[in-house]
Formats: sequence, structure tokens, C-alpha cells
Amino acid sequence: MVLSKQIKSELQDDSGDAYDEAARQVVDLANRIADEQQEADLWDISDGLLMGAIHYWLYTRQPCDDPMCEECEPVSNPEQRLQELHRLVDDFAKDSDYFQSAHDIKVGRA
Ligand SMILES: [Zn+2]
Repeated sequence: MVLSKQIKSELQDDSGDAYDEAARQVVDLANRIADEQQEADLWDISDGLLMGAIHYWLYTRQPCDDPMCEECEPVSNPEQRLQELHRLVDDFAKDSDYFQSAHDIKVGRA
């Protein structure tokens, strides 16, 4: 597998918006690690980033101590948190410029 060592961040604006800033900096971090550790496997870097991102995401989705809280209702147990996480992963993947590849194997090809 051949990948360019550096990928472009899809979000280049410097609006300071926390959502865009977090996404941009994660890609910048991956590029920096790949640059500093030329021997590193890019899949290891991206798996590590994903692990850290999921760890942080789960931390932020811990429900508060009010069992009737409406805001926390969609993430009120581990199964619901995982379901919400899967939904976001699906959305983010399909929104990515790298979701489709020219080398994708066509389904049904013999
Ligand atoms: Zn709550």
C-alpha cells in the first residue's frame, strides 16, 4: 500500500470554531507524527488517533447525575453512546473526500 506521507486537511479555514479547529489539528498532528517518525506505519498513527478521539468523545458523553436529564437522554447508557458514536462515524466517513477511492473494488465483479 502506498500513501502520501502528508494529507491535506479538508478544513483549511482559520475561523477559530472549536469543531473545525479540532478536526484540522488532528490531521495536522497525524502529519507531524508521520513526518517525525518516517518509519512509522500510517495505519498505526491513524488507529492511535482514532483511539484517542473515541476515548475523549466517550469522556465528554458521560451522562450527568440527573436520571431525568433530557440533554443526556440520547447517551444515557453504553449501548446508546455506542449507537450515537456509530452514527457519527458513518456521517463523518461519508463526508470525507477519502471515502471513495479510484482503487475501490467494485461489488459484484467476478
Ligand atoms: Zn444531563
